[in-house]
Amino acid sequence: MKKKLILVLNCGSSSIKFSVIDPILEITYLDGIVDIINSKISLMIKNLIKKTILRKEFEKMDSYKKLIKLIFTTLLCKYKNYLDDIVGIGHRVVHGGPCLKKSMIINPNVLLKIKQSSIFAPLHNPFHVVAIKVALKMMSALQHNNVVVFDTAFHHTIPKKAFLYAIPYKFYKNYSIRRYGAHGINHFYVLKKSSFVLKKPINCLNIISCHLGSGSSITAIVDGQSVDTSMGLTPLEGVAMGTRCGDIDPYIIFYMVNELNIPINEVQKILTKESGVLGISSITSDFRQLEEKYSTHKSAKLSIDIFCYRVSKYISGYSSLMQGRLDAIIFTGGIGENSSFIRQKIIHKLSLLSLFIDVRKNERNYKKNIFINSTNSIPILVIPANENQIIAQETYNLVV
Ligand code: ADP
Repeated sequence: MKKKLILVLNCGSSSIKFSVIDPILEITYLDGIVDIINSKISLMIKNLIKKTILRKEFEKMDSYKKLIKLIFTTLLCKYKNYLDDIVGIGHRVVHGGPCLKKSMIINPNVLLKIKQSSIFAPLHNPFHVVAIKVALKMMSALQHNNVVVFDTAFHHTIPKKAFLYAIPYKFYKNYSIRRYGAHGINHFYVLKKSSFVLKKPINCLNIISCHLGSGSSITAIVDGQSVDTSMGLTPLEGVAMGTRCGDIDPYIIFYMVNELNIPINEVQKILTKESGVLGISSITSDFRQLEEKYSTHKSAKLSIDIFCYRVSKYISGYSSLMQGRLDAIIFTGGIGENSSFIRQKIIHKLSLLSLFIDVRKNERNYKKNIFINSTNSIPILVIPANENQIIAQETYNLVV
């Protein structure tokens, strides 16, 4: 029988990830990444068993369009057998703005709205638009089978009292300034997985999901729906991150501009690219390296302490939204999945919520869904992130 595969595209400003997935059997046949590093472009593709089957370097290209074309030409030339089985293309879109609230098949109107939402995600949405246009052209037979899946969609169930900022209402009404959140695709993925692991239907689950990576967000989920999340209008709000400041007093910006005479563009750069654990440690934004230096470098220790402190604070704040029953805490994302040290530090502060880590279980690294709580604790789960699986499933559901 002919396979029904989905090509998933996840386009960012510094890397483009793509995968060929069977959404029903949950098999990833090809997993590729194009990295844009200074003056070089590297392309790497892995197969079903995660073995690298292609590694190539290219000179830097003068347009993003050419990069996307490179992916399609490589797939068309070398992996045509898979392409013949592709029935849809799923695009991850970071920001759906106020109007795009669920996954949908692309049409000119949807494309326009994604473009308009670029004001909220300037480092992502413009690239998604280019990728979608190239996909429509280069795989024209699938023109009507391109689907967009939004990172903001899962958070559209957040009630008004949680998504509104306490600024004049007209800024929401006229300019759509509100909390949108991010990482929604993965928060939904781990919710689905936890439903399987905890043997409870999704719509009966109360969960706090901690996606901890270079960008981090915490989401409160009640009866299977997002009811609050730490990221805001943009992914700058929330916990301290790799290079992003997270929650700050907005007056800091006025102070920097008016008293320190720092140009506003520079302030933007400071808060998005030079803050977070990088800004505190002055060493790196890489949590692995900071962890290694935790006991030898005071600033590395301080940066990790701030990060863990803030995550714990969000978890305990969100526990008050759980309507008296918390079914599990989930750790996901590069840090959440891999750092037993950071998980331990975060949970350590939460004994009041009946959250206790089993040190031995926490140290294990199975790369699959595991419980790391002790027997007297509310379940604490580690679930590896897998946005692609949700994107492939949503695409399949809309095109097949
Ligand atoms: P992104 O948000 O870019 O998808 P990831 O979810 O891949 O990021 O997470 C990247 C972060 O995870 C990096 O800061 C990296 O240092 C951290 N990380 C990965 N493995 C470990 C580990 N074993 N211990 C601590 N941090 C880790």
